[in-house]
Amino acid sequence: MRPFSCYNKNLKGSFAMKIIDSHLHLCQTEGFCRTAAFAHCENSMVYVQKEFAKNNIVMGIGMGNQPFDTKDTAPLVCNLAGQMILEPYNYPQNIACCLGIAADKITKENQKQMVDSFAQALACFHIVGLKVYAGYQPYDLLDWRYLPFYDLAAQMQVPVVIHAGDTANSKGLLKYAHPLLVDELAGHFPQTFFVIAHYGSPWLADAAEVVCKNKNTAIDLSGLLAGPIDPDTVWREQEGYFSLIRTWNQYMAIYDRLLYGSDWPLVPMAPYIEIMSRLIPARFQEDVFYHNARRIFTRIQPYTE
Ligand SMILES: [Zn+2]
Repeated sequence: MRPFSCYNKNLKGSFAMKIIDSHLHLCQTEGFCRTAAFAHCENSMVYVQKEFAKNNIVMGIGMGNQPFDTKDTAPLVCNLAGQMILEPYNYPQNIACCLGIAADKITKENQKQMVDSFAQALACFHIVGLKVYAGYQPYDLLDWRYLPFYDLAAQMQVPVVIHAGDTANSKGLLKYAHPLLVDELAGHFPQTFFVIAHYGSPWLADAAEVVCKNKNTAIDLSGLLAGPIDPDTVWREQEGYFSLIRTWNQYMAIYDRLLYGSDWPLVPMAPYIEIMSRLIPARFQEDVFYHNARRIFTRIQPYTE
């Protein structure tokens, strides 16, 4: 049974509606190349563009995994291929990026310089948000290292995406990645908008409640599966998990602040869209797959009309 699916197999992988993938990774590091191979994807911009065209994805927002390098004198921004750049890179207009905050590189001495570097980088139209690696970085979300970045995000009107929930490796510390922590953060920074990545999984109810309570927060649906997924098999095998997600979506009625994201290359694009579409009632799909991202990542609006 496919109660909520609007996926049309006759279109050979195409979606009728426009899609914005608000969370993916475009980094050609060894780790991401391995991840891509595991999911039967090719970690290249050419492949990404082909998949975007096939699935009607009009914009992808990459999470900048490479930190700022404070050893260098000039402010460096990591581009989506994992190279350090000084100037806005000549990316296709359908690729944007959130700058990752390397909190472990921030000291009392260099903090101001780091914030200034980010402010300068935000002049580039490709940079549409900031990213906090909670759990991977062993700091509380209200740690002094982060505070001026939240103010900067409010000033520049870009959201802050926060990794939440399970970490990809055992070195991560879950106590810093629990979505409930975003509740206090959102209250302290009412002018800043926060996106809880990965639905805070497995703390789905906590993430949904935080978003329900705090109007300056949203959830992204990225990274809930990994590998070369077959939609029908996964749907059957993970029935309980999907039913929890649907339950909290419905109960909290947070469809205006749910964002489609894949975490590609963890999963191939088409099957992930298929699965996520089954979790969202048809009448809310255009919001979740397209409109909400445009409203939250305001900078992408001119490029996604
Ligand atoms: Zn991610």
